[in-house]
This record gives sequence, C-alpha cells and structure tokens, in this order.
Amino acid sequence: MELQRALSFVCCGCGQGLDVVVHCSGKGLTDRTRPVAAVHVACPLCGQVNEVLFEPKGLIQVVRPAAALRSVPLPSNN
Ligand SMILES: [Zn+2]
Repeated sequence: MELQRALSFVCCGCGQGLDVVVHCSGKGLTDRTRPVAAVHVACPLCGQVNEVLFEPKGLIQVVRPAAALRSVPLPSNN
C-alpha cells in the first residue's frame, strides 16, 4: 500500500507556512494500532526540522520541533 499526501503546516521555527508532499508505504498504514505516520521536514527558510504526525488520510495531528542535535545554542561568554 502506498500513499501520497500533500501536507500543509506552519514551521515551528519561523512560522512560515510550508507545503510538502510525502510518500508513504508499508503495512503500518493500515494498522489500526498505529494510525499515525510521522515525517521530518526541514524548513527551507530557518532550517528547523519539523516533525509532522499525520493520519494516513492526510489529516495533520501534530507539528512539533524534531529533536535537534545540531541547533543547540552555545552559551554566551558574557
Ligand atoms: Zn522555518
């Protein structure tokens, strides 16, 4: 089973509206015990990686910042 879904959401980092098309495949899409898929989308403007959780039908449930390993602010040396 394969799905192609257009997702529209707002970047967690800069608030810019983003439109992405995602492709999904796998048995998990029809598994009722795990009805939500997740994709990571990097914002082209600010670089924030957004984790988008959505139902296979295309309904977005949650958009949140993905755990960022590379964007930890350095402490200032004041
Ligand atoms: Zn952004």
